[in-house]
Formats: sequence, C-alpha cells, structure tokens
Amino acid sequence: MTNHILLLGPPASGKGTQARRLAEYLNVPCLGTGKLLRNEIKESTEIGKIAEDFINRGAYVPDGVIMTMVEEWMVDNQSGWLLDGFPRTKPQAEALNNMRRPDMVLALEVPQEELEFRITKRRECSSCGATVAVKNSTDTICPECSSGELVSRSDDALDSFKIRYANYTELTKPLFDYYDDLGMLRKVDGTQSPDEVFNEITKLL
Ligand code: ADP
Repeated sequence: MTNHILLLGPPASGKGTQARRLAEYLNVPCLGTGKLLRNEIKESTEIGKIAEDFINRGAYVPDGVIMTMVEEWMVDNQSGWLLDGFPRTKPQAEALNNMRRPDMVLALEVPQEELEFRITKRRECSSCGATVAVKNSTDTICPECSSGELVSRSDDALDSFKIRYANYTELTKPLFDYYDDLGMLRKVDGTQSPDEVFNEITKLL
C-alpha cells in the first residue's frame, strides 16, 4: 500500500494545499516542517528562536534542527505519513531513507514566473490555518472558515521569495534526480487547477 508519501516542489507550487487534501484522502498525518517551525516561533521555543532568523532571511533552517524536530514527530507517526516541505536537502533525504523510505515521491512542477505571480496573492488564515489565494489584496476574511483573518506570511515578500527560490534550485531541486535514480519519482504538472492536480495525483497512487 502507498501510504508513505513525499511531496516535492518549489515554494508556492501548491504543495501545502495538495498535502492537506491527500493526507485526508489517505487518512494519514501530514508533516509540514514550515508549519511546525512557525508554531515553534509563535511559542518562542529554543528551536523557534534559532529558526526565526533563517526563515525571515529566506534561508533554510540547518539540517540538524530540522532532523531533531522530524525525528520527534516520526516516533508517533510510523504507520503512514505525507511529508510536505521535508526533506529539502540531500542530508535530510539520506536521514529519512535511514528511518523509512517513502513509497512514492510526487514532484510538482511549476515555472518560476507563475510562482512569482502566486506569491503576491497568497494568504494564510490565522484561525483555521488554510492557505488561500486572494483575488484582491484587500480581502481579509478566510473563505474556508468564514471567520478567520487572512494574513500574509512574513516570508512571502517577493525579494524573500527570490532567495527561497534560489535555495530551492540549489539545494532541493537535486532531490528530483536523487529520487529518480531510486525509481521513486513521479512528476506532476502543478500549473493545473488544484482539483486537476489532485486528480492526477490520485491516479498515480
Ligand atoms: P514554502 O514551501 O513556501 O517554502 P514552508 O512553509 O514549507 O514554505 O517553509 C517556510 C520556511 O521554513 C522555508 O523557507 C525554510 O526557511 C524553512 N523550512 C521549512 N522546512 C524546512 C526544511 N525541511 N529544511 C530547511 N528549512 C526548512
């Protein structure tokens, strides 16, 4: 059965949205390292204090910090998972392979210009946590829960996006080849609508 799945893709490729849907569909927990890190920051934990600087600069958080957080999460979630935003570097991928190999790696492909367009429209609900694309930059109420306030993430400025995209190209994109060589990679066209992307993914499972 395919229930250990990894989603790869550039920032704003729709990974988070697909991860939530897919985790629900497969009834497995979803690990979003970006979300976990933002929680650590909100709660001013030791990890949060270290991570904040890196995230606001658009830099990757050091592998050791990420692995401490992920290993702790994995203890309670061994029977299946959906990984969103982890692994992001080769050392992280190797560490994951030593714990549990993914059954399948789904790679969302979206060109850079489309990502830049999306990033200026992305908001996160401060109440239910949904990620939504606004039509007008003045939209403030979450369409998912109809009550929460929509906020821009502090790392979603275009300049910071460009740094994150450069990091992605240098450090994460090579994981496509890494997983392709292991015969695990399945590419998905991420420029389609969220429903179309989801359909394509479920056909691959
Ligand atoms: P995005 O997919 O748009 O980059 P995330 O919410 O997944 O957003 O991550 C936000 C930030 O958290 C990243 O830019 C990075 O600084 C940090 N981060 C998240 N996951 C990892 C990871 N596995 N390794 C290193 N840094 C990470």
